[in-house]
Amino acid sequence: MSEKMVYGNINSKEAIRLEETFGAHNYHPLPVVIAKGMGVKVWDPEGNEYYDFLSAYSAVNQGHCHPKIIKALNEQAKILTLTSRAFFNNKLGEYEKYITEYFGYEMVLPMNTGAEAVETAMKLSRKWGYEVKGIEENKAIIIVTQGNFHGRTIAVISASTDPTAFTNFGPFLPGIIKIPYNDTDALERVLKKHQKRVCAFLVEPIQGEAGVNVPDDDYIRKCYKSCKKYNVLFVADEVQTGIGRTGRMLCCEYSNIKPDILILGKAISGGVLPISVVLSSREIMMVIKPGEHGSTFGGFPLACAVAKAALEVVKEENLVEKADKLGKIFRDELNKLDSPFIEIIRGKGLLNAVVIKPTDRIKAWDVCLKLKENGLLAKPTHDHIIRFAPPLVITEEQLMECINIIKKTFVELN
Ligand SMILES: *Cc1c(COP(=O)(O)O)cnc(C)c1O
Repeated sequence: MSEKMVYGNINSKEAIRLEETFGAHNYHPLPVVIAKGMGVKVWDPEGNEYYDFLSAYSAVNQGHCHPKIIKALNEQAKILTLTSRAFFNNKLGEYEKYITEYFGYEMVLPMNTGAEAVETAMKLSRKWGYEVKGIEENKAIIIVTQGNFHGRTIAVISASTDPTAFTNFGPFLPGIIKIPYNDTDALERVLKKHQKRVCAFLVEPIQGEAGVNVPDDDYIRKCYKSCKKYNVLFVADEVQTGIGRTGRMLCCEYSNIKPDILILGKAISGGVLPISVVLSSREIMMVIKPGEHGSTFGGFPLACAVAKAALEVVKEENLVEKADKLGKIFRDELNKLDSPFIEIIRGKGLLNAVVIKPTDRIKAWDVCLKLKENGLLAKPTHDHIIRFAPPLVITEEQLMECINIIKKTFVELN
């Protein structure tokens, strides 16, 4: 007997079978099918309700199907969706003015996915290196950190230290040096040694995919200072940490620095469209001339309307302050839980992780399966880390309910 369907016309079992049969196996999803989302909650085809504690890797900070963002999508979709950049359009300039003022930058280069924006930042940095810093032809170096996650393109995985991400995808891009994360001396050493060749230091202010790896309080600030000393661009990948997630609009605000190049993606659209940007100064951005870089969809009118609405929501609903306040409650409450399986709880704002003791018989995956049974969806990053990142629109009451689900789950594992 098939279960009664509440959403759509394909049940969970069939949806999984279809994906596994016809789709590339480039992901290993938790066995749950999502058929509907609203705010902090999602539902499977059979109508079971879950709290979403992944938020599509922090793309859905504004909550699923936010009415204001969906309204902007619908209205713009009826008028104009795509022009390409072969022509001007009446949405792009307005959006560019809005987003540059919003984040305090002079110019923006719009792209679509996070990885593309990282690529763009790498190209921009190299070009600046040759044309402004005066690096010898084809000798530019970009410094990155171990454990980074910047996306999946060839240039970006050339910077990766995760064998799963790079094995058998070579040959890789030259001109990249990988140094340990949270190690300012390592950065200073490489900068000193290669000072004439380094154009940029690319870093996440918290490493999200690596397991919400929070560096020392003074790490980002010291790195920034070293970059200034050697005339190197400080490039922050805030695709995951940006737009309120960590309890600041940008995570770099904790360090009181302004990156020379800022990369944003994910939550720019509130999870509605793939929208990313590279923000920088006029001086840096103007090294790219017409025809030298682009994307058919980058800055398309539909994206401009959606992104503007999504960024407005962040301010109108005070999501930054909310993430800050609720994040503290989340960590305080979970720290009260005395579980033999938990090693540490860490994070900033509503980007948090529970590290499971690696020696235990319990893996993060098993905990996530149990959490799912109890009505909360989270995903392991690596074998022993669970990231907890609900939409920032979550209320305190809902958060308390979720904390109880997590506590209950760990107790049940005992
Ligand atoms: C997700 C992510 C990316 C890549 O974004 P895509 O849209 O998946 O290409 C880049 N950097 C960071 C820090 C991310 O979390």
